[in-house]
Order: sequence, then C-alpha cells, then structure tokens
Amino acid sequence: MEYKILPVGSMGTNCYLAWCPDTKEALVIDPGFEPQKILREIESLGLKVKYIINTHGHMDHIGGNQELHLALKAPIAISSEDAGMLTDPSLNLSGMVGNPISSPAPQHLLAEGDSIDFGDCSLQVLATPGHTPGGISLYGHGVLFSGDTLFKQSIGRGDLPGGNHNQLIASIKTKLLPLPGETKVLPGHGPDSSLAQEAASNPWL
Ligand SMILES: [Zn+2]
Repeated sequence: MEYKILPVGSMGTNCYLAWCPDTKEALVIDPGFEPQKILREIESLGLKVKYIINTHGHMDHIGGNQELHLALKAPIAISSEDAGMLTDPSLNLSGMVGNPISSPAPQHLLAEGDSIDFGDCSLQVLATPGHTPGGISLYGHGVLFSGDTLFKQSIGRGDLPGGNHNQLIASIKTKLLPLPGETKVLPGHGPDSSLAQEAASNPWL
C-alpha cells in the first residue's frame, strides 16, 4: 500500500489518499476541504477511487464529500453511529460556526471488524468511539489512520456533543495500543508518530 498526505483547509485536516500500487485502486480518507485539490492529486496519480471514507462525522473531515462523490461516483462510507452527522449541519458542528456543510448520506456503513479491500490491499476497521459516538480507525500495512482519536502527543477532544473522554481513552488503550509498536500513526491533524512512541510519552495515556 502507498499513501499520500494532503493537508486541507484552515483547520489543518490531514486528508489521505491510500492506494494499491499494482491496480491503483484507492481510498480517499477524510476529504475535509479543498475537493478540487484532492481531485487534481487523484488524477495526477492515476488513481481509481473505490471508497470515500470518513473516520468520523465532523465538518472538517467530511466537507469535500459531496464534490468528490459527484466527480468520482465512489460511495461514501462511515460508521452507522456517525452516519446522521453527514446530513445534519448541527450534528457535524458546521452549523455552530455559521458555515453549514452537508454531505450526501452514506452508501456504505462500516463497523468493527470490517475489511476495506482495494486492489491487493486491505485495511481493517477498528471502532474507536469517544471523540464521536462512531469514530473509527483504519489499520493495515503497518499504518494506522487514527482520525481524531489519537494524535502525536495528544488525543481527540472528548467534550464535543456526543463525545466521551473516558470512552476515548478506553478506545485507545484497548484497540490501538495493543497493535504492534512500530505501527505508524497517521492522525487526522498534525504530524505522524508511532504507537510505541505514543505509548511511551503521550501525556494523556
Ligand atoms: Zn473531529
């Protein structure tokens, strides 16, 4: 699996493209903003996008869904618990900042234990609730797309509507830290890390 980080928008969201080098089948993970920039990158890499995936339903992770969905004809995938956030600006928090965003409803629902296959590659869905009720992380090929669950030296907020700080800590400790320490952490904002580094020095854990 290969991947590329595309920082998008003023909130510094990390949108990721992940693809199978043999078939060029690809995922777009968290297209928060700047869909035209994401589309240009997809085109220049020659990728065939199979799914648009949201690690959770906050505005800064879903804002590009609509344009990408229309341009690529790829299904939008999110957990069932966060699905309602896509179409409701008050739930995805965009209403709160006076710039209501909505996305098409998802065509595909993700749950713990699902495999997302693209070409010869596969990522496993881990339910990591706490930042939102249906937050997910994606694991495989030595990397973890951790959304807003785990950051380098920090964790996601647990105090937003639907969030739960203790549940977030439990998700990280029971689902993420047991994975191999050399796993590269690719978070929804900010720089990358490794699970071993976070287990050793993240002040929240
Ligand atoms: Zn978030």
